[in-house]
Amino acid sequence: MISAHTKHPDQTKELAAVLAELARPGDIVLLAGDLGAGKTVFVQGFGRGLGIAGPITSPTFTLAREYEGRLPLHHLDVYRLDHMEELFDVGIPELLDEGAVTVVEWGDVIVPTLPADFLEVRITFGDADDDRTLALRSVGPSWSARQRAITAALSPWVAAGPGVEAGGC
Ligand code: ADP
Ligand code: MG
Repeated sequence: MISAHTKHPDQTKELAAVLAELARPGDIVLLAGDLGAGKTVFVQGFGRGLGIAGPITSPTFTLAREYEGRLPLHHLDVYRLDHMEELFDVGIPELLDEGAVTVVEWGDVIVPTLPADFLEVRITFGDADDDRTLALRSVGPSWSARQRAITAALSPWVAAGPGVEAGGC
């Protein structure tokens, strides 16, 4: 588990952009966190890190959006109930693409339907309005193998010192 802290949306975007440089085809990133935590902000930064030029917005009226970057990005938002129903109708395997990176907002609800190989990013609110904590956890082999690289890439946002978790899983 890596615990990172940001104090501005731009920092969350930067963190996500740095993380995106480690992304590989077939990757899945699950974003958990309450409404307004910063999941979409994270995807915007992640997309920038993949070299996606255009704006990334929440796929409110569609379950999934696709963008072309260094790797294609599939952005899913399963917050709305009808999205969840749609998801179970369509089936997750159809939405996953071995050549793309799939980022899912509100990932918890779909965990049982996913391959057990993803990076979980859980965003929580901090004391000040713009404070966020991003807890990153690798589940399965593909992201676990990149644990050291993730720790190094995220070091600007990981506070060092006693009592602060700064190491790998
Ligand atoms: P979600 O997709 O999780 O519902 P959004 O990304 O749409 O949330 O919105 C997050 C909101 O929180 C934005 O208005 C953003 O400007 C604000 N915000 C403030 N501080 C941060 C931060 N450190 N990281 C991310 N977003 C932040
Ligand atoms: Mg969102």
